[in-house]
Amino acid sequence: MTHPTDATCVFCKIVAGQLPSFKLLEDEATIAFMDINPVNPGHALAVAKGHWPTVDVIPADVLAAVARTAQKVAKAAMTTLKPAGVNLVQANGPAAGQSVPHLHIHIMPRRPGDDVSLNWEPKAGDRAEIEAIYKKLKAAL
Ligand code: AMP
Ligand code: ZN
Repeated sequence: MTHPTDATCVFCKIVAGQLPSFKLLEDEATIAFMDINPVNPGHALAVAKGHWPTVDVIPADVLAAVARTAQKVAKAAMTTLKPAGVNLVQANGPAAGQSVPHLHIHIMPRRPGDDVSLNWEPKAGDRAEIEAIYKKLKAAL
């Protein structure tokens, strides 16, 4: 299967076998490997083989394949590592914390009291503002 690549991209290099990785699994459209800067033991990445930077440009079937791969890795992490919880995280753009512009889903095992800063306290929003934004968003779907 052919897919877009970017010669300067670290994940494209891993997909092509030009950079080493601790590869967990591979199928036609995806690959999964260990993150080299783990936030917790078992932190892994499910990655599209093709170079699509973000969720708005990747074909829906490839995104679905990445999600299936992330689920397999999450299940293996839950069974073998028995973490207290697991986050699946996917970032789009530097403001969202994306450092590698090649679509991937993080599989992050969680432990109580770890310092992974993903959890937030819910604060009630302004209903009128929520409704105004809801109307904009709904009109775009
Ligand atoms: P993000 O910040 O969401 O784009 O995530 C990129 C992730 O890729 C980070 O957690 C990095 O630690 C990880 N990463 C970068 N280079 C490599 C590599 N060569 N092998 C494995 N993981 C990597
Ligand atoms: Zn790439």
